[in-house]
This record gives sequence, C-alpha cells and structure tokens, in this order.
Amino acid sequence: MKDKKILLGHGSGGKLSHRLVADLFFPYLKNPILEQMDDSALIGKLEGELVYTTDSYVVDPIFFSGGDIGKLAVCGTVNDLAMLGAQPRFLSAGFILEEGLPVEQLEKILISMQQAAAEADVQIVTGDTKVVPHGAADKIFINTSGIGIRRPGISISGKNARPGDVVILNGNMAEHGIAVMASREGLDLHVTLSSDVAPLNDMIMKILDMAPDIHVLRDPTRGGVGTTLNEIAIQSGVGIKIIEKDLPVTPEVQGVCEILGLDPLYVANEGKVLIFCAAERVDAILHVLQTHPYGKNSCIIGQVVDQPKGKVFMETRIGGQRLIDMLAGEQLPRIC
Ligand code: MG
Repeated sequence: MKDKKILLGHGSGGKLSHRLVADLFFPYLKNPILEQMDDSALIGKLEGELVYTTDSYVVDPIFFSGGDIGKLAVCGTVNDLAMLGAQPRFLSAGFILEEGLPVEQLEKILISMQQAAAEADVQIVTGDTKVVPHGAADKIFINTSGIGIRRPGISISGKNARPGDVVILNGNMAEHGIAVMASREGLDLHVTLSSDVAPLNDMIMKILDMAPDIHVLRDPTRGGVGTTLNEIAIQSGVGIKIIEKDLPVTPEVQGVCEILGLDPLYVANEGKVLIFCAAERVDAILHVLQTHPYGKNSCIIGQVVDQPKGKVFMETRIGGQRLIDMLAGEQLPRIC
C-alpha cells in the first residue's frame, strides 16, 4: 500500500477504504469466507453446541515484549471460547484506527493476527474498519468476536467447582501484565520479560480428550489469579484454598512486582488457565499439560473446600492463613 499513514478517508467507505482492505487487510486475513465480500459472512451449517463471545482490546503500548494488540485480540477471544471447552472456529475483527497511525504498524499487527489465527486454526471471516480523527482514539482499538463449537458431553462452567476439586495452573503468573507495564514505562530492568499471550485451544482440547469431565476452566486475565479464583468461589458457592509456596512466579517477575508494588496474584495473564477437576483426574491432566509448550510449568496451586463459601484464602509460607480478596478497582489500566 502506498499510503504511509492512516487517513480519515481510509474509513470513508470510498476508494481509500477499498484500497486499505484490498492492499492491507486482505493479503493477511483472507480466506474463502472473507473473500465473498458480502455484507455478512455466510458460515453455513455447523454441527454441535455453538459458543459465542466478544472482547475489545485497548492495550497500551500496542507493541510489547512477547506480543502486540493483534496477537492479543486473536488469542483473547480464542481462549474465552476454549474456556467453555469449545473449539474456536470463526472470528470477526472490528478496527478503530486513529488518523495518523503508521500503516507499517497496522501491517505488523495484521501479520500477528494472521499468525495467531493460523496457530489457533480459526478464520477471521468478517470485519470492519473505522477511522477517527487524531486524538479521538489512541492509535488502534480492536474488537474481536468468536464462534466456537463444543462437542457433546462437556459441561464446564464457573458454577461447577465442588469441594475436593484440585486447582491446577498451567505455568507462571503475571507475565503479561508485567511485560506490558515494563514496555509502557520503558523500564530498563536488565531482565527479559515477555508476555505469556498464546492461544490455548490446542492444549485445552488435548486435556479434554483425556478428561472430558473437567469442572471449571477459566483464564485469569484482568485481575489475575486472585480475582478469577474469587469469581469461581462465588459462582460455585465454595471455598478455595491456595498454597503460597506452590504459586508459580519467576524470580524476575517477582522482582519487578516488588519494584512496582504489585502482587503477582492480581496481575493479568493472557496464556494461562485455571483448571478445576476431581482428584483422580489430576495425574492425567498434568501429564498432558506438562508435555505441551504452553503447560510446561503446570502445577497444583490449591483445592476446593466446603467453607468459607464464596471466599479464597491462602496458606502462607509461615503457616498462617490470609484472605485473598478480589482486586479492588483497577490495578493496571489498559493491560489488554
Ligand atoms: Mg476469560
């Protein structure tokens, strides 16, 4: 595309819009359904239980260590579908672009979306682009919606945790939030920090092959593991006990959290899943997770108990107990 920057005309629906779609969006996102170029995507008949979700992405900065807003927009929606046990199939992508956005940056974002969609085996089948005047948005916002299909016999919900369940996490906490914060603040920390953003559907489908009777799957994104566990405790009407010494955090992330005054339990993840299952399923699930690239550091972090209902508490390193509340307010704005 010959234009160097996004102009208001690229959102006009006229010639510039057509050039943007033909020269930039299509080469990266095209597939037989998108190429129909009609007002809606004709998906046709689908077999199975349909699962549908949507999310908007406003992360700042749009490029960060380990990913960018495009990868996040695909993975976030893919993961929300996978959290219900569905195989993600089709995505929509709506773009709000700020006038003046360098075309080169948009191209990098589209390449990331293409790569993430290919890895997750989903197609972006419909989309929209609007351009707003300089200052009316910050560079680029993306909304993605997704449709997934769930095979029969799976019943996964935040309501299904029951006393005796084991709580598994597939790796280290807080990597996304800390990588974005470090990129945003331009912190020179002499350590490598990288977001964990990743499509989890392949790993989830593999654990469901082994254990279709998993009770709860949820990705601890905004609000982190601490807030997500509280949501599940409330939804299921159970208590959740976690063990401080078993919570996986790298020394690098722990160190940066201490510098920034953040608790890794409340920092966002974008490639993590909390799995609640019956004790007899744990070994099989951990085996599958630990042999998958996105689950190498999987471990047990706690268990479901009968009391106190709707609460999360932590057994501390020194043998005490601490209540883990939901995150109050926003710890880190524009993290996803
Ligand atoms: Mg989610």
